[in-house]
Amino acid sequence: MSSPAAVLDLAAIRADFPLLGEKVNGQPLVYLDSGATSQKPQAVLDAEISFLTHANSAVHRGAHTLAAEATELFEDARLTVAGFVGARPEQLVWTSGATAGLNLVAYSIGNASVGRGAPASAGFALRPGDEIVVTETEHHANLIPWQELAARTGAILRHIPVHDDGTLDTDAAAALITERTRVVAFTHVSNVLGIVNPVVELVALARAVGALTVLDACQSAPHLPLDLPALGVDLAVFSGHKMLGPYGIGGLYGRSEVLEALPPFLTGGSMITTVTLDEAQYLPPPQRFEAGTQPVSQAIALAAAVRYLDGVGMDAVHAHEKALEARMGAGLRSIPGIRLLGDAATGAATGNGAATGSPERVGLWAFDVDGVHAHDVGQFLDARGVAVRVGHHCAQPLHRRFGLTASVRASSAIYNTDADVDTFLDALSGVRSFFG
Ligand code: PLP
Repeated sequence: MSSPAAVLDLAAIRADFPLLGEKVNGQPLVYLDSGATSQKPQAVLDAEISFLTHANSAVHRGAHTLAAEATELFEDARLTVAGFVGARPEQLVWTSGATAGLNLVAYSIGNASVGRGAPASAGFALRPGDEIVVTETEHHANLIPWQELAARTGAILRHIPVHDDGTLDTDAAAALITERTRVVAFTHVSNVLGIVNPVVELVALARAVGALTVLDACQSAPHLPLDLPALGVDLAVFSGHKMLGPYGIGGLYGRSEVLEALPPFLTGGSMITTVTLDEAQYLPPPQRFEAGTQPVSQAIALAAAVRYLDGVGMDAVHAHEKALEARMGAGLRSIPGIRLLGDAATGAATGNGAATGSPERVGLWAFDVDGVHAHDVGQFLDARGVAVRVGHHCAQPLHRRFGLTASVRASSAIYNTDADVDTFLDALSGVRSFFG
């Protein structure tokens, strides 16, 4: 079977990623761990090195030529990355990653809850008995900050369950999101199930009760065309290192009215207008949320990453990865003893279905191998050059929901090929007899 992936020039794309030419354990590398972190094209490596070599200087501060050049490159990067998610530059706050962005939001709401911020911030204040709604599928990064916020404010944390087929129980969501709900925080794509959640439907439920929506777009930004304003979310986060960019950089998108009303989380240099010994006045967003020295070279390299993705075209990237997902899913279902997490077939088989047909997905499957621990599967594959993720993938509650403590996850990106999927499936088909 050959996939429509042929629309991409995969040989040329792979040649852009130096690490893909490496051997691991004497075998050509098959990298299927992009859900954890992606590989980086030469253009991204070059962008960061070029900035550090030719333009490195502190942004927004110096009057000298280099500082002006660095500031221009930094703010151009903001324009480029904001544009990639359909936003305006002032709607994009740099963070060190998605975890930092989600904590920023939760702590900012916490500050509003104790009376900090402009008068408009009061609208975000949480009081005892108010409710925060998350889903059962969240990465710990979009769960623990809300647990902490609930503990600090007396709010109650509720969760939307998933069906056995991995789709969100939207009837339960409609019942859980009520006049008491103040925040609805959910992932666009689960990092374990690979299923695209019904964002517009959840946003409509939240809007109807005046709740703030927070989207974790970590696992969608590298794989789908993303227009955050069109999705209607109030706030959203993503991580650079998962979308061909460097470590230590991410984005927080916010609707302008929301960012303007939220109080800062981190405070200090670079986010103020005037300071006295007793108090400080803050800059408008995005600078209000960017205290201290920013990850400048990383932001510039992230702009190179999204330019690379845009150059290929996100529709083409998505179509390519959908084809890889279908090939991988079909192959995995045909290997005896494999149970896929978030699979329509699995949901129907266990009878707690309410299966919703075939949800939209990205190229990612997590699975359990009957009788073989996930870590053993990972080592077996690694010995054959295939890199996958094993463990709970920072989603312990979701694994518990499926009666597991760990799973194996194979996740693809723009540079994976049918041959990668086939090598992985061939190797995996020998795992049970090896350990049996
Ligand atoms: N949310 C999801 C869905 C993720 O997959 C991850 C990373 O695995 C994160 C949040 C956290 O991202 P980071 O560690 O880059 O902050």
